[in-house]
Amino acid sequence: MRPRPLAFMDASSTLEEADYVLFGVMYDETSSFRRGSKWAPPHIRMASYNLESFSIHHEAEVRGLRLHDAGDFGPEDFSDPEEMVLSVAQFLRELLSQGKCPIVLGGEHTLTVAAARALRAPILYVDAHADFREEYMGRRLCHACQARRVAEELGVSSITIVGVRSISAGEYEDAVEMGLRMYYPWDLPKPEEILRDLDRVYISIDLDGLDPSVAPGVSNPEPGGLSYEYVRDLVRLAAPRAVGMDVVEGNPIYDNGNTMVLAAKLVQEFLLSRETQI
Ligand code: MN
Ligand code: MN
Repeated sequence: MRPRPLAFMDASSTLEEADYVLFGVMYDETSSFRRGSKWAPPHIRMASYNLESFSIHHEAEVRGLRLHDAGDFGPEDFSDPEEMVLSVAQFLRELLSQGKCPIVLGGEHTLTVAAARALRAPILYVDAHADFREEYMGRRLCHACQARRVAEELGVSSITIVGVRSISAGEYEDAVEMGLRMYYPWDLPKPEEILRDLDRVYISIDLDGLDPSVAPGVSNPEPGGLSYEYVRDLVRLAAPRAVGMDVVEGNPIYDNGNTMVLAAKLVQEFLLSRETQI
């Protein structure tokens, strides 16, 4: 883990005093199409400075919340995805034992397997993809298989994926047979309905779940996605019952700048929703 010269905006707490600990995982070694998500954490931090600390909706400021930016794991920290998941899970366990709420910036989606292992909470995903492959390109631990690995850790009933519109025939067959809970962009219930039976969640936002028109800077863009407003409302409602959150698969190489700002904004929404609704 290396510290970053530029912390996420308003992350002015020390690790000891923090309620929230943000860190990045600069890792995209299993990315199959467009590499570059490992560069997202520093770009999301930079983009955070475009935002106001004050939110009209929450009538509150992020400034003053006890947020610490712990820096990033770098690609050189891991020899393979297994080692990445082990290291991230270990750090998450440390944070959890200290009563901190983690916010993880990816990097590729594989890191959510670490969150499942460490936090053992049902996972609310936003994703264009089910990531439910048994294996992909010879790997069992990769961004296209992460939800399948999470299902093995926690049970398939612990998974909810919102925004799915891209899935292989084999994944679809398995998902239906195993009863994977998926919501499609053309048939979305209100966020209240999705969260009805979830009183404790970990939120995992794969930025490609949003429509590419609002989040173009992703590794695997897929047309017909969720609106920013829908995802924001989902995060607002889920945050007060969340044990942590990640924002993954952003890719600054393909971004016009807006996706990194959107990612930073969702982090702010997560923080403020917890503070104003708890
Ligand atoms: Mn994903
Ligand atoms: Mn995806």
